[in-house]
Amino acid sequence: RWPEQGPRGGRSRLVVLAGPTAVGKGTVAAEIKARNPEIHLSVSATTRPARPGETEGEHYFFVDDAEFDRLIADGELLEHATVHNQYRYGTPRRPIIDALSAGSTVLLEIDLQGARQVRAAEPSATLVFLLPPSWDELVHRLVGRGTEGPDERARRLRTAKVELASQNEFDFRVVNEDVASAAQEVVELVRAPAL
Ligand code: 5GP
Repeated sequence: RWPEQGPRGGRSRLVVLAGPTAVGKGTVAAEIKARNPEIHLSVSATTRPARPGETEGEHYFFVDDAEFDRLIADGELLEHATVHNQYRYGTPRRPIIDALSAGSTVLLEIDLQGARQVRAAEPSATLVFLLPPSWDELVHRLVGRGTEGPDERARRLRTAKVELASQNEFDFRVVNEDVASAAQEVVELVRAPAL
């Protein structure tokens, strides 16, 4: 059972921030959390190895494939998906239920497949799609971060095209022109009375 989100959304809200590769979801989510420490930012489980500077339990729970299978089998994940055909990512259910029950707003920064699963599991969730200012800017950001080679970049951009075409499934669209304004816009949407 989902905790009651109260009349017209009440105080607690489940908010999903999704969007294409390199649009800056992680940066915007971190900015939202930094400005609003009372918001519960969900920590996902993933089979991806930790990058330098990432901390267990803060950025992710780093698990192996067997443990990820167990989490799924035991129903401990609200949603899960294989992202970029590579590693598996999933949202632990319990901390979210606890935070919503305590009246907190919960923010998930997940991919589009995950966003759809959250919508199916919890129709009252608020779905926000983060957009790049333009297609060229998205390409520029992906190339600029330099974490993928040309083949992987091309693959991600193909996925991004498909994802951008799905933006109308979302309740709100926010353009990430600069991080501070995008974060502010999301917070204002979330604070407004529920639809
Ligand atoms: P990264 O490996 O760069 O941290 O994240 C790669 C992608 O996985 C991002 O698009 C991010 O939004 C997505 N992601 C992170 N955690 C989750 C999760 O729990 N569920 C889903 N479906 N996607 C996630």
